[in-house]
Amino acid sequence: MPDKIPDLETFIEGVRKRNPGQDEFVQAVEDVAQDIIPFVADHPEYHEAEILRRLAEPDRIVSFRVCWEDDDGNVRVERGWRVQNNNAVGPYKGGLRFSENVNESVLKFLAFEQTFKNSLTGLPMGGGKGGSNFNPKGKSDREVMRFCQSFMSELFRHIGPDRDVPAGDIGVGTREIGYLFGQYKKLTGRWEGVLTGKASEYGGSKLRTEATGYGVVYFLREMLKDRDEGLEDKSAVISGSGNVALHAAEKLIGEGAKVLTLSDSDGFIHDPDGIDEEKLDWVKTLKIEKRGRISDYADKFDGAEFHEGKAPWAVDCDISLPCATQNELDDGGAKALLDNDVMAVVEGANMPSTADASARFRKSDILFGPAKAANAGGVAVSGLEMSQNSERVSWDHEKLDTMLTGLMQDIHDKCVESGTDDDGNVDYVRGANIAGFRKVADAMLAFGVV
Ligand code: NDP
Repeated sequence: MPDKIPDLETFIEGVRKRNPGQDEFVQAVEDVAQDIIPFVADHPEYHEAEILRRLAEPDRIVSFRVCWEDDDGNVRVERGWRVQNNNAVGPYKGGLRFSENVNESVLKFLAFEQTFKNSLTGLPMGGGKGGSNFNPKGKSDREVMRFCQSFMSELFRHIGPDRDVPAGDIGVGTREIGYLFGQYKKLTGRWEGVLTGKASEYGGSKLRTEATGYGVVYFLREMLKDRDEGLEDKSAVISGSGNVALHAAEKLIGEGAKVLTLSDSDGFIHDPDGIDEEKLDWVKTLKIEKRGRISDYADKFDGAEFHEGKAPWAVDCDISLPCATQNELDDGGAKALLDNDVMAVVEGANMPSTADASARFRKSDILFGPAKAANAGGVAVSGLEMSQNSERVSWDHEKLDTMLTGLMQDIHDKCVESGTDDDGNVDYVRGANIAGFRKVADAMLAFGVV
C-alpha cells in the first residue's frame, strides 16, 4: 500500500526539493494540488497510482542550443526547450514562447497548466509548452527568420501531428509560425498539421487569432449569466495589448462594454472615455504592424493618460481581465480591485494572479475565472485547426465561432459541476482543477504504471 495521502505542505515541499529554484512551476503545481489533494482523499485509486505526483513530473524536457547570425554578422547563442508534460489524452499541444524571461521553470509551469486546460476542452490534446530566451523585440524580419529556422532545425525531431503540435504564445505570432513551418517542411519534406496558428493561406484555421480573447469574453458572459447580469455598459480594465488583450477588448466593445485600459511592459494607458472600435483599430496597427509602444496612445487621443511602470488594477471598474503575463496581478492589485467593488476577474493570461491574489479572490464573493478554463478558447480552436488539417477542409468563421461559443459554455458548465459549494457558490478554480484532472487521471489509470 502507498503511504497515506500527504498534506498540501508536505507534497509541495517535495515538489520544491525536486525542482530547486523553479518558483513558477512550484506555484502552478500548488494551485492545482490545493484542490486535488482533498479530492483524492475521496478517490483513493488516484492516490494509489500516484497520479498527481506523476503529473507534476514532465514526461520529458528537451533542451537545446540555438545558434543564429544577426544582421551584423555576429554569432548569437540562445537556448531552446520543449517541455512535454503529459500525453494521456492526446498528442502534446501547447505554444512556443520567445521572450528574454523564458526559462525552464516558466515553461514547466505553462506545460503543467496546459495539461489541465487541454483536458477541459474535451478535445484529444495532451499538454506541452516550449520556447526560447530569444527576444524578438527590435530584431529585423531576417533575424527572426534565421532564429526560427535554427530553432526548428532541432525541434523538428521531437514534434509531429500525432506526437506534439506546438502553436504561438508571447513573442510567437503568425510571422514566426510561418518561418517555423517553412523550415519544418523543408527538413521533413512533409506538409502536415504540425503547428497551429498558421496563416489561412497554408492551413491556418479561421478564428484562431481571435479565439483566446473572444473565448475569455464568452466564458465571462456565462459566469455573468448565472448572476442575471450581462456585459452591456460594464466598465472593463484590461492589461496587455497583445493577441489576447486586443481580441478580448474587441469582443467586449462589441458586447457594449466600456474598455478603459490596455498596457504593455512599459506601463498602462487609461482612457476614461472608453476605447472604442476605431481607437482599438489604431492600437492594433500600432502593436501588431508597427510593433510600437502603448504609451503613444496617450499622445494620440485626448483625455487619455499613460502611467509609466504601473499596472491598471487601481482603476475603478466592473470587470478586470489580466491578459499580459504571469504574476502581473499581485495581492495589492487584488485588494485595489476588490476595494473598488469589481464584479468579475477573468484571467486571459496564464497564471496572471500571484498565489496571494488568487487566494484573496477565491475568498471574496466576486466571479473569479481561472486561466486554465477562461483562456482555453485559443487551444480549443487550435484543436479544431488540427482536425481541419487532417481532413483537408477549411471551416468558415461562423461555424467556428458557434463551436467556440459551445466549447466555452461547456468548460463553464464543467467548472460549475465540479466547483459548486454546499451553499451554491461556485469556486471556478476548484471546478477547473478537478474537472481538468479527472479526465487525464482516468486515462492514466487505464494505462497502468508507465
Ligand atoms: P503577446 O506577445 O501577443 O502579448 C503579450 C502582451 O503582454 C504584450 O502587450 C506585452 O507587452 C505584455 N507583456 C509581456 N510581458 C510583460 C511584462 N513582464 N509586464 C507587463 N506586460 C507584459 O502574447 P499573447 O497575447 O499571446 O499572450 C498573453 C498571455 O496570454 C500569456 O500569458 C499567454 O501565455 C496567454 N495565452 C495566450 C494564448 C494565445 O492564443 N495567444 C492562449 C492562452 C493563453 P510588450 O509589447 O511590451 O511586450
